[in-house]
Amino acid sequence: MMSDNCIFCKIISGEISSKKIFEDSDLMVFHDIRPIAPVHFLIIPKMHIESLNHAEAEHQNLLGKMLLLAPKLATEHGLKGFRTMINTGREGGQEVFHLHVHVFGGGANLPKT
Ligand code: 5GP
Ligand code: ZN
Repeated sequence: MMSDNCIFCKIISGEISSKKIFEDSDLMVFHDIRPIAPVHFLIIPKMHIESLNHAEAEHQNLLGKMLLLAPKLATEHGLKGFRTMINTGREGGQEVFHLHVHVFGGGANLPKT
């Protein structure tokens, strides 16, 4: 379930500190350490799933829960709109291999990619 060398598993266990904004039995949410927008947080499953490439049908509810939490927490942080991003695999720009959804926004409108 937990992966020894995984930064995000260590954040879940409390071994590495983070600015936590939400936690339940399945998920944890904390502010990104290098924000790219005034508000930038990461939604992660407590279960160590490496990436979207490693997600299975059995994770369907968990994935749905992650996405449904995004607008709730974005609204709570004053965002009227936001962007979600899931980087998958090295070629997809993923650096931390524990599945996470980036949620960010605030300030000026986000540019088109
Ligand atoms: P990725 O590139 O894998 O999609 O995103 C990883 C994100 O995790 C990056 O935006 C990076 O700033 C963030 N990050 C990496 N290490 C830590 C950490 O120890 N604490 C927090 N809060 N964020 C981290
Ligand atoms: Zn992990």
